[in-house]
Amino acid sequence: MPAVTKVLLAEPRGFCAGVEMAVKALAWMVELYDPPVYCYHEIVHNRTVTRIFQQAGVVFVDDVDSVPPGAPLMLSAHGSAPEVVEAARRHGRTVVNAVCPLVTKVHHEVKVRSREGFDVVYVGHEGHDEAVGTMAVAPDSVRLVQTAADVDALEDSGRPVALLAQTTLSLDDWAEVREAVERRFEKVWTPGRSDLCFATTNRQMAVKAMASLVDSIVVIGSRTSSNTDALELVARNSQCPRVERIDTAQDLPDDLGGIVGITSGASVPEQLVQEVIALLDPAEPPETVRATTEDEYFPLPSALRELLAEVGLEANRATTASSVLGRLARR
Ligand code: SF4
Repeated sequence: MPAVTKVLLAEPRGFCAGVEMAVKALAWMVELYDPPVYCYHEIVHNRTVTRIFQQAGVVFVDDVDSVPPGAPLMLSAHGSAPEVVEAARRHGRTVVNAVCPLVTKVHHEVKVRSREGFDVVYVGHEGHDEAVGTMAVAPDSVRLVQTAADVDALEDSGRPVALLAQTTLSLDDWAEVREAVERRFEKVWTPGRSDLCFATTNRQMAVKAMASLVDSIVVIGSRTSSNTDALELVARNSQCPRVERIDTAQDLPDDLGGIVGITSGASVPEQLVQEVIALLDPAEPPETVRATTEDEYFPLPSALRELLAEVGLEANRATTASSVLGRLARR
């Protein structure tokens, strides 16, 4: 491997507040119940995280009806369709919904706008867990678009249009589709702050800030991770001459040299970043390129807090999801 002189670390990177909450919530379920604990969809879209939970006795399912009556069941951070939430609660299952509050906010916007007679144009990725769950809130009112070309193909029903979005889009994709919708329709309502969440936009801003300072950018995150896809896109659209997308340090190419920038998606444990740095073995200590400081915190789902209270336990806010995963991995 050519010499890596320096590593620049994008800040923020890695776990967001929603993933912190979801990972800690599932770890508590593993603590409270004998295996198997069931989880509808991958708790977050990262292979390392799901592998650690599988080894700890979690079974990920794509159909809640396959979960035995009375079993403990968690619903993933991406949000679930209303009928899935309802089906999960049948047959005496103990259900904890680890949906991120920012996804819940979009579900609420879909519900309210469709009730008010809007056509909802939803910008998202077809088949992604979050998009599927959100569109199911009002399937008759929502139309999915992924590109500006999709917008041009939409029919105009004459009803007002509400423009909503998956939380993990790239800023550039969102801006392009938003412009197309505003060109196509006369009256468009969209939330004062777009549905793109703070974690998604902050991580993208940090990549933009580091792009002109490095010879290459390594983007860490599993292929299923939509917010990591968006990070990769931002990096590829930047001035940086080389971008590598990897899942773990094992995927790192052996010809990186000079100054290497590193970022990671919102579902990526910091341990994976540290393993990449160790392999790059830079001549100088890593430095941080900070776009902003995040201090958002989402409490555990209320159903889980009630379960903990019943057995006299209380979650410690200072515990991090990374430390919890580390403990599970060592069991
Ligand atoms: Fe929530 Fe955004 Fe994190 Fe998704 S990326 S879990 S919407 S904070």
